Amino acid sequence: MHRLVFDKARYVTRLEQIEGLSEHERAVLSEVTERYAFRANSYYLGLIDWSDPADPLRRIIIPSTEELGDWGHLDASNEHAFTKAPGLEHKYEYTGLLLVNDRCGGYCRFCFRKRLFMPENTEVVRDVGPGIEYIKAHPKINNVLLTGGDALLLSTKRLDRIIGELRSIDHVQIIRLGTKMPAFNPFRVIDDPGLLEMLQRHTRDDRKIYVMTHFNHPRELTPEALEAIGLLQQAGAMTNNQTPLLRGVNDDPAVLGELFNRLSYAGVPPYYVFIGRPTKGNHHFAVPVEEAFDIFESARARCSGLAMRARLVMSHTSGKIEVVGRTRTQTFFRYHRSAEPAKKLRFMAFESNPRAFWFDDYHGAVRDFVPDTPAESFGTN
Ligand code: SF4
Repeated sequence: MHRLVFDKARYVTRLEQIEGLSEHERAVLSEVTERYAFRANSYYLGLIDWSDPADPLRRIIIPSTEELGDWGHLDASNEHAFTKAPGLEHKYEYTGLLLVNDRCGGYCRFCFRKRLFMPENTEVVRDVGPGIEYIKAHPKINNVLLTGGDALLLSTKRLDRIIGELRSIDHVQIIRLGTKMPAFNPFRVIDDPGLLEMLQRHTRDDRKIYVMTHFNHPRELTPEALEAIGLLQQAGAMTNNQTPLLRGVNDDPAVLGELFNRLSYAGVPPYYVFIGRPTKGNHHFAVPVEEAFDIFESARARCSGLAMRARLVMSHTSGKIEVVGRTRTQTFFRYHRSAEPAKKLRFMAFESNPRAFWFDDYHGAVRDFVPDTPAESFGTN
């Protein structure tokens, strides 16, 4: 018999509620929480090693005065520009993003959407009707991502309604739920059989539901988290994991490799690894592109083939740009997805810049190749 969800993961929004912080830390960090939202829960706080000030899970959830720095932009990839209907982003031909929620099971301090948790946010709407109408009117959209915020922070009833509406649109083949709840609060899944029944009901042999998990560090893969993953899989969901590469969290090939391997053991293929967007207040999490590539490759070298499937990408304003390789003097990129269809799979070589944190920091393309067909591109690097 499961206890109530709130017993296991009690939400906290004030620094005074965190026993692991000293009076001084609470006083100093209050300036940060006045600027950027703070939320955590007792389950996740219980995973932190409070004797280690550099504990990676602490770094994920506990504010830091480094967030007060001026580096970066609140909307670093200009997502707002692709909002085509209230709560609906449409950047890539086949993909629609429904921003269904402006809350998460905790607020990651490195979040690139922290603007959504600010009082002036207007990008997330409660009424997804206009977004659904937009999707209906655009038959090229064959996959829809429910995100925000965290899709699993919606009630099961509301999720059921949204997924049901999407299922009634014939051209929507794939529905994805973006969530860090299996890491932040696995009891959201474990204690709600209704959620699992609902996912199962909407899963068809020819149309699965994808749950895009967000584990950043292997220590988040607790027995409870693994139980939640197993239940989602038993309900028919396809699970994949996405994570940014974060300084002080997973910027060590041994840690990242362990994360990839353990995810693969649980049947969760590592999907995208993101170079952190230059988001305001996130400088202390940023890893330069070329260093990130080296870490990523060393991590992959420790993995079995199934754990090696991740791609290292930047979600740039112009598209999803994969970092595909580097030599001592050059770094190679390819548009994995592009806002302009003509650039899709374009291959680019730039002079190396070890200080580059983002695509915009590269100048002087030494090679720029747009393939006629995807097949041609594979011979270019
Ligand atoms: S779970 Fe995702 S959306 Fe929510 S705070 Fe973390 S990074 Fe941001």
